[in-house]
Amino acid sequence: MHIERMHRTLKYLYMGGKHVKRLDLGIHAIMQFVRDKLLDRLITINKGKLSRKLKDLGNCHVSSEKLSFEMILPDETGWQVVSGSSPQKYFVNRIKTECQCNLTCSDCQNVCLHQYTCTCIDASVKWNMCKHIHLMCRYLQSKSIAIESTEAQNPDV
Ligand SMILES: [Zn+2]
Ligand SMILES: [Zn+2]
Ligand SMILES: [Zn+2]
Repeated sequence: MHIERMHRTLKYLYMGGKHVKRLDLGIHAIMQFVRDKLLDRLITINKGKLSRKLKDLGNCHVSSEKLSFEMILPDETGWQVVSGSSPQKYFVNRIKTECQCNLTCSDCQNVCLHQYTCTCIDASVKWNMCKHIHLMCRYLQSKSIAIESTEAQNPDV
């Protein structure tokens, strides 16, 4: 019954109800079907996780507010965040500018967790938008606001 249902789905949804004789077209339809099924499964599995991830993200933003911009040092490829209390250093890099996902921080101009990387455990192992990334976003945001306001004061420049 399962196989028959799969056959019908394939025939009507993926091959437009036509009798396909060409093997390559048949394989293409099967591959699309498998991809869609895997995606369905991924979405169902991650439904609960998504809201938890967003909650973690908000918490990290709050903890980033305890960090100061003075901890940021420019680096060849990105920035270093030096923790005040320990000799530990973290490297933050910007990797993407555009992403369509929903795992964004509304306080950081909707930057999502895929746009930056950080070498701390929170980001590199647990795959969170860590407090260093929020700190970086807030820092860049404050800098762009500063540039905008100086431009507004000197419209000729
Ligand atoms: Zn944030
Ligand atoms: Zn993203
Ligand atoms: Zn980090």
